[in-house]
Amino acid sequence: MDPARGVHGALVLRPAGFHPNHAEQGQSGREGPHAIAWTSIDGAAPGAGEAPAQRPGAPRAADEARGSPAVRIARFSVREGSPAAGSVSFGVVEGDPSRPDSLVVHELAGHPFGQPQPTGESYRFQDVRLLSPMLPNKIVAVGRNYAAHAAELGNEVPDVPLTFFKPSTSVIGPTENIAYPPFSSDVHHEAELAVVIGRMCREVPLDRVPEVILGYTCANDVTARDVQQREGQWARAKGFDTACPLGPWIETDLDPGDLAITCTVNGELRQTGRTSLMVRSVAELIVHISEAMTLLPGDVILTGTPAGVGPLNVGDEVAVSIEGIGTLTNKVIKRG
Ligand code: ZN
Repeated sequence: MDPARGVHGALVLRPAGFHPNHAEQGQSGREGPHAIAWTSIDGAAPGAGEAPAQRPGAPRAADEARGSPAVRIARFSVREGSPAAGSVSFGVVEGDPSRPDSLVVHELAGHPFGQPQPTGESYRFQDVRLLSPMLPNKIVAVGRNYAAHAAELGNEVPDVPLTFFKPSTSVIGPTENIAYPPFSSDVHHEAELAVVIGRMCREVPLDRVPEVILGYTCANDVTARDVQQREGQWARAKGFDTACPLGPWIETDLDPGDLAITCTVNGELRQTGRTSLMVRSVAELIVHISEAMTLLPGDVILTGTPAGVGPLNVGDEVAVSIEGIGTLTNKVIKRG
């Protein structure tokens, strides 16, 4: 079989820089950002025969770079007062998140895909400002993936997953504000588990989904409910600027199968659920979405929200927490 084509004849994408020799190095696709030339179908991935599938929870490249397990990957800028003030980098956050003064950020060179390299520079957590952990090329979101949430808005669970896009311009980080759009008077929070893609891929088979996931973060699929109900398409209702808070970091060592997910507004519990209540699992969603489109490193999949969605008002503080990841907190302000 032509290695550039799958059994169905579909072209396997090869980004510039791909070298077939990488396929013979055993851990194919882990030699660097250009070795992720896998979009297959049928095991036509370069070196698929040799490359052991990465198990969920298995140490990832970033762990190996540091020589220790469990990784939280953040994107950050350095606060004033340091010679590096203002620079933006990815980094690995170490320490106990319940004690922020114990946290240290180890800077990575370049991006966290493939085999990230530490620069050797480290910062105290209080000296950095966390940014959105990723700037995705696209965000593919899934609607009505928890039966109780579908029911609370009077909807059925769809026969096939309901998918929509949120634009890259809707992304904000954990220290940024949700700006209430002037064309809505009913903006809602939707706490969601977000999946961050780690490798270019298309037509991902179910058993190879773990190989294409970099990790998981918290998301708020902020929605102008009145606009969603008024307009047939959801581009404005779910795509306005600041409608996609992500963070605080990407946890790469996590099984997404049964995690507690909550949303509070001003400390009051509004949403509570478990990812085990998803109608379609993370893996099933990635199979479904990648059947249609190429996913790129950094792309984000939002997996649906549990029951309890409700209004946000200017002045509110909304917090999405997911077990094993952390808490994403944003304030709501009036758009300036
Ligand atoms: Zn949603």
